[in-house]
Amino acid sequence: MTTILITNDDGIHSPGILALQQALSELGKTTVIAPDRDNSAVSHSLTMNRPLKIHKLADNFYTVDGTPTDCVAVGLKKIFKVPPDLLVSGINAGTNLGDDISYSGTVSAAIEGTMYGVPSMALSVGGEPPYDFRAAMQIATCMARKILNNSLPENTLLNINIPSGSVYKTIKVTRQGRRLWENSIHETLDPRGNKHYWIGGGTAVTDPGEDTDVHAFATGNVSITPIQLDLTNHTGITYLKEKWRLEDGATGD
Ligand code: MN
Repeated sequence: MTTILITNDDGIHSPGILALQQALSELGKTTVIAPDRDNSAVSHSLTMNRPLKIHKLADNFYTVDGTPTDCVAVGLKKIFKVPPDLLVSGINAGTNLGDDISYSGTVSAAIEGTMYGVPSMALSVGGEPPYDFRAAMQIATCMARKILNNSLPENTLLNINIPSGSVYKTIKVTRQGRRLWENSIHETLDPRGNKHYWIGGGTAVTDPGEDTDVHAFATGNVSITPIQLDLTNHTGITYLKEKWRLEDGATGD
């Protein structure tokens, strides 16, 4: 029987993870292992400065008092006797597009799965809250089937962003674009008049590339980006070797 590990970064109480579990339960046996609270924007952090507890809420539903990466690492080693056929992270409340990917706990859980050799994907829904997961549930099932039947390229996971609602224009296979946030650090005063800084919101600055995840989503499409574990800029190797001549001992200017 097909086995599927489901996790997220919004926490066990988020509606997105239940929608995902419902959607994927028709494909096999699902096991939910999720953080016990919201862990959005924790990236790929691993808890090493304190012990972690697994809490069983019901059959095949567990929480970990840690990060999404902790859930995957501990779950794969301590809850699963044999690795699952698939790992799916989400459905995140809010997109993970462009530069946001590097902050994303949702995507990092899928990166962790890929590092352990488990085919993995991350799903996020964008638009206006409260989010409607209908299209995302349909895409989750469809893409899970694709991965189970065809597998993924080596060391590769999928980052999928879906419009909120029941409809989308079409599916676009995209590259990671750029999306930076301007004016996202807000200065506030506490009741004693001390300054504090609160990160969030702001205005998105994006690159104009029409083949990007950002553009595909902005124009009403489902964006599917294959992401790889290898962060090396391979053109950069040539640059450092040939232009900087680092390996030729050219360590001066
Ligand atoms: Mn989140």
